Amino acid sequence: MSNLKTDILNYLESQKVYGKNIFFDDDGIEFKIDKEIAGEKMAKKQSPNNEIKISQKISETKVEKTQVLQEIETKEQKVTQHIVKIDENSVSKNWRDAGSLEVLYDDIHDCMRCELGATRNKFVFGTGDPNADLLIIGEAPGRDEDAQGEPFVGRSGKLLTTILESIQLSRDDVFIANILKCRPPNNRRPSTSEVDTCEVYLHKQIELINPKYILALGLTAADTLLKEKCVMKDIRGEILDYRGKKLMITYHPSALLRNPNLKRPVWEDMKKLKELLVN
Ligand code: SF4
Repeated sequence: MSNLKTDILNYLESQKVYGKNIFFDDDGIEFKIDKEIAGEKMAKKQSPNNEIKISQKISETKVEKTQVLQEIETKEQKVTQHIVKIDENSVSKNWRDAGSLEVLYDDIHDCMRCELGATRNKFVFGTGDPNADLLIIGEAPGRDEDAQGEPFVGRSGKLLTTILESIQLSRDDVFIANILKCRPPNNRRPSTSEVDTCEVYLHKQIELINPKYILALGLTAADTLLKEKCVMKDIRGEILDYRGKKLMITYHPSALLRNPNLKRPVWEDMKKLKELLVN
């Protein structure tokens, strides 16, 4: 069987256009489709009308195949462009020497060191008091954060504001950031390499802010920071260690929106955190 016929068969099969009732003539030139045509193939072989129909089918199939190949080529080009956009030189060579959050922001806000840079709308550096005693960390920006360039906005963000107010803190009293500075498409979990590439910026932020406590929101953030699979009921409210800093984990505000029963344990964690902060 010629390569062309093999390709056509494979293509039709993959498209499920004609099922499996495709037959090739012995001379290897024409092919016929459909059971009825198959049953009458020798009788109709000489029919001019039938040959025209078959030729038309072949032409249509070739056109469809060409279109599919063009689509594949376009997708390949997009993937190539996407990969090309990863650029180690998109940040200042001296970003590790930044002496303030402002300088750090200037150094890294155009970062394209992982592929999330190519799909983000806005780089989400973090906001709040650069000398805060409390650093609040989520895992990565979501849709609203990506659109606005700020962490914890939208419904979860409003609830976080309310949670902070319950211990007499405002958003301006703390610093709020994410482990990753760019949104993973469709809020998928970031890959290990994306975390490894981006987490160094968080390390630098911690060095500059030098908070007394870090509060990580949600199990995913906990897993990512602690590099292990955590169980929320085992770790929440405990004082853990993250790079020499005291770390507490509690539920993510979005979990409270889904399950209001979690408000009580979060309230208990926040009360404990408040006591630690003032002492
Ligand atoms: S996620 Fe982090 S490492 Fe990746 S492009 Fe954004 S800022 Fe750079």
